Amino acid sequence: MSDPQVQSHGGGAGPAGTVACAKCSHPNPPGAQRCERCRGHLFIVCRDCGATNPRTGPRCHQCNRRLHRSIGEKLNPVGAKSVSMRWVFVMIAVLLLVLALWVLVQFSGLRIFD
Ligand SMILES: [Zn+2]
Ligand SMILES: [Zn+2]
Repeated sequence: MSDPQVQSHGGGAGPAGTVACAKCSHPNPPGAQRCERCRGHLFIVCRDCGATNPRTGPRCHQCNRRLHRSIGEKLNPVGAKSVSMRWVFVMIAVLLLVLALWVLVQFSGLRIFD
């Protein structure tokens, strides 16, 4: 009758009262601590205030603190990847240039020796 944690919105798609799994989005019955299908944890405890939040939500419903640190950490490797991708393009461009030069030398060399 009075369970504000389960009935709080932002639990993902599914019938009212069920807790959607963050991994496989399987709707679990209220009160379940782990997913019935993949056995993954449905709730995450806030490191700041200790409130229990559904894993599907990005922020704590009590103190609004970000629950998943990996979201912020995933942003940095993306920036590093774009730099490495630029280097790949440079390498490909250099390789193509060398190849073009090699072809030019081969053709001109043949003409000189002929
Ligand atoms: Zn699951
Ligand atoms: Zn919190």
